[in-house]
Amino acid sequence: MDKIGVLVTHKPLPYLEQELTRRGCRLFRLWESPESRRLEFCRENSSEIRAIVGNSNFGADAATIDALPKLEIVASFSVGLDKVDLPKCKERGIRVTNTPDVLTDDVADLAIGLTISVMRRIPSADKYARSGAWKKGEYTLTTRFSGKRVGILGLGRIGLAIAKRAEAFDCPISYYSRSEKPHPNYTYYSTPVDLASNCDILVVACALTEETRHIVNRAVIDALGPKGVLINIGRGPHVDEPELVAALVEGRLGGAGLDVFENEPHVPEELFALDNVVLVPHVASATIETRTAMADLVLGNLEAHFLKKPLLTAVV
Ligand code: NAP
Repeated sequence: MDKIGVLVTHKPLPYLEQELTRRGCRLFRLWESPESRRLEFCRENSSEIRAIVGNSNFGADAATIDALPKLEIVASFSVGLDKVDLPKCKERGIRVTNTPDVLTDDVADLAIGLTISVMRRIPSADKYARSGAWKKGEYTLTTRFSGKRVGILGLGRIGLAIAKRAEAFDCPISYYSRSEKPHPNYTYYSTPVDLASNCDILVVACALTEETRHIVNRAVIDALGPKGVLINIGRGPHVDEPELVAALVEGRLGGAGLDVFENEPHVPEELFALDNVVLVPHVASATIETRTAMADLVLGNLEAHFLKKPLLTAVV
């Protein structure tokens, strides 16, 4: 990939940056440019940029693609492609790749971790032990996870991995997707409200599209109810965040475990004081093992493209 110009939209994993450099790529570091100058930066370097490496926060929108007439491939360091203008890429004949499968286990692990953390109040119990409050009395009773009904919005790779883990906790599984899947042990509901009405824990694991934006709205939150727990490891805009915050503050929803937010890195401050809420900063795939495997897929896709070989994980 000697001298190929690669626009990197975000501060990458050091391993990915080293490997791109080692392969002779010329890196254009978009994140170092002030936000107001980013399009100008693309235009200034457009004669050299043939590839974009994006991520879940900054991919390739229409304006960026338009600024890069020599762009051939967008290799996303994410499985979700909601930040890539896929129709525009198809129209321009630009290839698009993502990083499926390698992150599935970590994201599913975090979904279960968040669920148990919310129901057993692990972060607040940890604070209780550290602060010495235990000396004044025992910690409050919490709620069991094992055996509770788990509902999954989007039974794809990650949704299925969460279902398998929850089965090991004797949880009955139900789900909503656009179509019923061949899993006879799992109950299918044809609307998100029906799913939420029939589960104790609702996990969001679908792709973010115009159809799934705010798929968790007031009606779904009300159906989940004051004993229900919402877990979001999908994308922030899947949930109507002001409605979620109001339901948690007013006690209309039992609890929430959130890895993703509507306007990252902004986290609604109203949630900070709530013990029934566990907040983590979009880290579901953030282990050394998975991030390295994701970087290898990005590198493998770029190499395949520029060597005119079949892409490893082609989406477009
Ligand atoms: P996947 O295998 O493609 O699964 C996506 C699921 O979304 C499918 O089950 C699909 O089901 C469902 N879906 C799509 N449109 C829908 C709609 N209108 N209504 C209901 N369900 C719909 O992808 P994956 O690998 O499991 O990843 C899923 C998502 O997780 C990604 O898109 C990404 O946003 C998110 N993610 C988050 C993190 C994180 O760090 N928090 C990390 C990785 C991934 P049907 O086709 O049956 O409708």
